[in-house]
Formats: sequence, C-alpha cells, structure tokens
Amino acid sequence: MLVLRSAGALLVLAGVATGCAGPPPDAARPPDAARPPDAAPPPHAAPPPPASQQPPSRAPSPAVEVVTRGNGRLTVVPGTSAPSGRGMATTYVVEVEGALGIDPVEFVAAVEQSLADPRSWGAGGRRVLQRVDTGTPDLRVALVSPATTDRLCAPLRTGGYYSCANGDRAVLNAARWLTGAPSYAGHLDDYRAYLVNHEVGHTLGFRHTTCPGTGTRTGQPAPVMLQQTMGLGGCARGPWPYP
Ligand SMILES: [Zn+2]
Repeated sequence: MLVLRSAGALLVLAGVATGCAGPPPDAARPPDAARPPDAAPPPHAAPPPPASQQPPSRAPSPAVEVVTRGNGRLTVVPGTSAPSGRGMATTYVVEVEGALGIDPVEFVAAVEQSLADPRSWGAGGRRVLQRVDTGTPDLRVALVSPATTDRLCAPLRTGGYYSCANGDRAVLNAARWLTGAPSYAGHLDDYRAYLVNHEVGHTLGFRHTTCPGTGTRTGQPAPVMLQQTMGLGGCARGPWPYP
C-alpha cells in the first residue's frame, strides 16, 4: 500500500516513480532542447523507487488473459515496412516474447501503423522510420510479459505494471498492451499508440515532460512524453508526438 505522509512525499513520488524508462527530471542533466534528437539516449540510471511506491495493483479485465511470465526469449518478427518518407531511415525491429498468447502479426501491424502515422516521430519529414528484420537496427520495439519487462527494465522498477525503454529497446509490457491504463479507459487503441510513441521516443533521446498550462489550459492533448500511464496531469489523452 502506498502511504503518503505529506504533500512533500507526494512530490517525491512524482519525481522518482518514472514507470516508463525515461529517467526522472534531473537538474544536473541538460534539457531535452540541448540534445540533438538523434543523440544516444541517456543510460537508464533512474534510481528505483522505494518499496512503498509500488505501481497500482489492478486486475486485468476478466475478458483478457494476460500471461504474467512468457518464455523469456525474444524473437524478431519477420518482415519489413516501407520507409515512412524519403531519406536515411531510422530502422527498427519488432520483437515479441514467446508464449505470450499474442499474435505477433497483429502487434507488428499496430506498431507499424503507430510509427508511420503522420502525427508520429516522422511528422513533417522530421524522420524516416522503417521496420526491418535483419542487420543492426537503430532501435527495437519489444512486447514482453510483465516478468520479462521487469528484467529488461532493471534497474528501473516497473513492478510488473509499467513499461520502459532501456537503451535502444522500447520494452512494452504486454499487460498494458492488452488492458490499457485507467487514464485511457475505453480507448485502448489510443493507449497502444501512446505506448509505442512514448517508449520509442525515449530510444530517440526524448525525455519526460509535463502537461503545460495545468489549471489554465486543461483539455489540450498531453505531450507524448508525459507519463500518461500514471495519469494525464490535467491534459487530455495525447498519443502523438506531433498531433
Ligand atoms: Zn517514459
């Protein structure tokens, strides 16, 4: 159980419980604007939250079976996509853990659709994205069980609930993929687009941000690098980097 003793404790929670891979705000690091978009993302040095700050415990929808522990082996899904534009492509592979009970083809289709969307990271020709299945990709998008999420995200503590990015790999927790999050209740497809874009954003070097203008401009789409699994912070759902 999470016990907050004071407003100060609440602020601490907001700072350290990153939930998805990006390190928490850190004044010692340069702001995102100072980093070129293609720079290697910072290492995952986020300190684990105290044991008392576990992610919420929610039972998945009874209509959806979530495998909590797959076989631990990631397999690259065969196939490639057309580049999302002209120019040098940022290449990615899609990986799926075995024994998840999820059709890799359907997962690939959703990932490709998200990253090829004109509101995604390639918006306005900013970047060309292309799925590949051989060679050395620039990044990886993996769908894994909660147990494997925790292993691949360590030392960040995902608690079997959150997702992360670790180095060049976006690690998507299959439990969230299947059941979404309360902040996106009733909008699973949007949540999946958010999850892909947010974690891939980390692999591209983008870091967490907040809902701008909270209290005065509520209802605007959340920045995709807001940790929306935890809540929307006064914004509306925001699955896209460039809505
Ligand atoms: Zn994140």
